[in-house]
Amino acid sequence: MPTHHVVLIPGDGIGPSIASSVQKIFSAAQIDIEWHEQVAGVAAIAKGKDVMPVETLEAIEYHKVALKGPCSTPVGEGFRSVNVALRKRLNLYAAVRPVKSLPGVSTRFEGVDIIIVRENTEGLYSGVENEVLPGVVMSMKVASEMACTRIAHWAFRFATRRRRKKITAMHKANIMKLTDGLFIRCAQQVHRSEYPNIDYDELIIDAGCMKIVQDPTRFDILLLENLYGDVMSDLCAGLVGGLGVVPGANFGDEAAVFEAVHGSAPDIVGKGIANPLALLMSGVMMLEYMAQEKNDGSLAQQAKRLRGAYEKCLVDGQKTKDLGGTLGTDAFTDAVIERLDG
Ligand code: ATP
Repeated sequence: MPTHHVVLIPGDGIGPSIASSVQKIFSAAQIDIEWHEQVAGVAAIAKGKDVMPVETLEAIEYHKVALKGPCSTPVGEGFRSVNVALRKRLNLYAAVRPVKSLPGVSTRFEGVDIIIVRENTEGLYSGVENEVLPGVVMSMKVASEMACTRIAHWAFRFATRRRRKKITAMHKANIMKLTDGLFIRCAQQVHRSEYPNIDYDELIIDAGCMKIVQDPTRFDILLLENLYGDVMSDLCAGLVGGLGVVPGANFGDEAAVFEAVHGSAPDIVGKGIANPLALLMSGVMMLEYMAQEKNDGSLAQQAKRLRGAYEKCLVDGQKTKDLGGTLGTDAFTDAVIERLDG
């Protein structure tokens, strides 16, 4: 009987192929997990279900941990984002994206080690949009003291546990005085009253973007509201090799869903070239989280083993095309498996 249970949502586009690669690697590493497969997004609609089926949500609520492939969202029409719906329904209010230079992936900068903490439930993602007059539409940016304080707490607690030194909040409070103003005031308050030991500073987001591409090694943890966090995640991904190497996690008080930052990449579906690494890295983050939650040293060991295997692949030049290599999804999967034991 497996000891650990995880919900697996393969997702759409390249999702099923990268999810199956991760399952294959976990199985070769004999990690003691039973996967409970559920659908969402286009895959759910194709099965005649709701875009975010109740049974998928209930499975995550029950097992508390999920690994999720990317789900497609049509641009400018149709249903709202599955990802946004999932985060809201399960109250996964904190998104975390570690952006780190990898051995064997050479980019303009070395030694990048930034963690993006993104508020996941409010801002322009509240989905409040309407047509004021024909030809005039508006979208509402929402910020609440509760959610701004909650994400600030989460970021400072995370910084403390991870022994990180500094949090930089990026904002546009000079223009959005009420919403972004509230966001930074709450962060300042949490810093002053509870975490004076962690350095805290602020940057207006446009200046922050310039500084980060000039020298990302000066940054540690970034604290951002929803939309800025989304944009900054892709920008930072570009600093370390692209979307194929940035994992992610969405945390709430009751559940955690791990997923790569990239989308379903419809342009490369069926070509056999999708890079499964970001989802594998998300799986490694998931093992580390489970190890901590369950105080289980063997899961932490397994996470270390998987990280060693994929890093060795990269150092050996065994890479997919998006990282400048020649391997397809299956060949990269096999290369990781071959390196599981050194
Ligand atoms: P979303 O709106 O869901 O973020 P998107 O279409 O904006 O989706 P992605 O799906 O992330 O963005 O794709 C952006 C580009 O990166 C595409 O050219 C895609 O092929 C490429 N890409 C994304 N993920 C991968 C991957 N895992 N392996 C290889 N290429 C990828």
